[in-house]
Amino acid sequence: MKKILLIILFLGFILIPIFFVYAQETIKILLVPGHDDEVWGAQYGNMKEADMTLALATKIYNLLKKDEKFEVYITRSSEGYTKEFADYFADRQADVVSFKENAKKEMQSKVDNGSFIQKTNPPHNRVSEDMAIRLYGFNKWANENKMDAVIHIHFNDYPRPKKWTIGKYRGFVIYIPEGQMVNWMGSGQLAANIFIQLNKKYATSNYEKELGGLTPDQTLIALGSNGTLNAGARSVLVEYGYIYEKKFRTKNTREQTYKNMAQLTVTGVKKYFFKNGP
Ligand SMILES: [Zn+2]
Repeated sequence: MKKILLIILFLGFILIPIFFVYAQETIKILLVPGHDDEVWGAQYGNMKEADMTLALATKIYNLLKKDEKFEVYITRSSEGYTKEFADYFADRQADVVSFKENAKKEMQSKVDNGSFIQKTNPPHNRVSEDMAIRLYGFNKWANENKMDAVIHIHFNDYPRPKKWTIGKYRGFVIYIPEGQMVNWMGSGQLAANIFIQLNKKYATSNYEKELGGLTPDQTLIALGSNGTLNAGARSVLVEYGYIYEKKFRTKNTREQTYKNMAQLTVTGVKKYFFKNGP
């Protein structure tokens, strides 16, 4: 009897660490399709950015999901916020608000004592207080659930006098955490891998503040502004193109473009995490 117990104990010591190491190898990814059904971001004609980000993010989700090395989460589906996030905001709203307030205070003292240098960042639309809380909530959730990467999916636009005219900027850009942010290094490398893939088919932004296609930023909550993402939580925000670009205008070309963009993004993610890629 004692012998059996010893064997079980012994096996346990061997198997539990093996299981642990195996479980650790799953790469956890959170996809955040930008904006939502209430505040849908950019709009061109009857195309709303929030619908576009959801369509593309869902394609990325389905591709990653096929690979068991990934554990994939998404914040929204066509039914609205997914259960995880709807519950999280219902139950933890107050915690998220204090997380945000504390982070801002801590950052302010770092700025005051000179340990964090503020830089000029590209202009962004100010997000509503509601959306800011959501975004800080995604960061808090990503830290608590040990996400290896958070990918924010967006389509670009810029203020111009007539919204129905076609703008002068086009191309994609990937925003990354600026060099003083704790998650900058991994995020930058992940972004570079996605960049290389997207750039095989698509040109980078011709907007002067996005030239080069990889743009560091300190102020985007999505990237972990105010120190709200842990060092292990790589974060990138991809603006896949300007909303009025020709390839997004008809349903057919839009679908094909999403498909290509999703595939290229996933190839970049795999190349980063597994070096040799898919
Ligand atoms: Zn957006």
